Amino acid sequence: MKKHNYSAGPSILPQEVFEKSAQAILDFNNSGLSILEISHRSKDFVAVMDEARALALELLGLEGKGYKALFLGGGASLEFLMVPYNLMKENGKAAYLDSGTWATAAIKEAKFFGETVIVASSKEDNYTYVPKDYEIPADADYFHCTSNNTIFGTQMKSFPKTNVPLVCDMSSDIFSRVIDFSQFDIIYAGAQKNMGPAGTTLVVVKEEILGKNGRAIPSMLDYAKHIKADSMYNTPPVFPVYASLLTMKWIKEKGGVAAVEKLNNAKAELLYNEIDRNPLFKGAAVVEDRSNMNVTFLLTNPEHTETFDKMWKEAGISGLPGHRSVGGYRASIYNAMPIESVQVLVDVMQALEKNV
Ligand code: PMP
Repeated sequence: MKKHNYSAGPSILPQEVFEKSAQAILDFNNSGLSILEISHRSKDFVAVMDEARALALELLGLEGKGYKALFLGGGASLEFLMVPYNLMKENGKAAYLDSGTWATAAIKEAKFFGETVIVASSKEDNYTYVPKDYEIPADADYFHCTSNNTIFGTQMKSFPKTNVPLVCDMSSDIFSRVIDFSQFDIIYAGAQKNMGPAGTTLVVVKEEILGKNGRAIPSMLDYAKHIKADSMYNTPPVFPVYASLLTMKWIKEKGGVAAVEKLNNAKAELLYNEIDRNPLFKGAAVVEDRSNMNVTFLLTNPEHTETFDKMWKEAGISGLPGHRSVGGYRASIYNAMPIESVQVLVDVMQALEKNV
């Protein structure tokens, strides 16, 4: 039986993406060859890469606006250092919002390149909220933020207006909601939450911001080199890119990001309503910053842990335990999670209330 997969990442993808990916491994485009054994320079794969890059920009509403999409290796974590390498000047300065573990990891890498100003942090409160009302130094080379904090279950509902280039790690909420994406200069997202299997990272770059920091950049870490090579500077992560393309096509068929956002809002509302209604549960994050992707919650009485854990496992739910730094539970309800699966979890929460 297929489980209800609440894993935070790698995570659930649309069933048709699994099926079509499996088919392409056996026989890609009726070529008599597996996608795993063809050249990345073959006509068929170049078409995949071109379509994936174009569709990423289309879904974000960024075509014809000076952006290029890349599918790189190295995970979102490599972007933590590629961003400062490409944007921070020698003796320059970068500004960061510290809203969680991944933001902290990005800050750590930026420090290798120069002065790194943390404009605000919610660390003291174990990242239960997203800091607001901070000032971004006007002389910063860029400002970096994390749109969705996967571990703590918080999400930025608005982004600062600033004259410095805006960089955003959207790893855990890419393609989940409509934002004016043209306010950003760099967007990056590891594939393994809302887009595809682990192994590739979508990086969307506004071309005009590159080539201005005066640093000599090693080729593999240079966005301009990857753009010039049409995201084929070296052998790209062929299969993750293909599966990501299938997911993006699925989003487009559903009606695009706006249509998917409606479903995401309905799922989040269903689950948060139960967390707020049911006296046995409480949310882990402040209400106004709650994530629509990673729903973090706790039992009000930890004595019910064993019973609850047994009940959700019996209901075919997988991947629900929270990250060790928050405890409790984390229901990751990415784009591909059907509302029926969320209802299964809500039913278990209600059954627990009746049982105890
Ligand atoms: N940023 C965010 C918001 C994440 O959730 C994660 C991974 N869970 C990362 C960055 C790191 O991604 P990767 O493992 O692809 O390097």
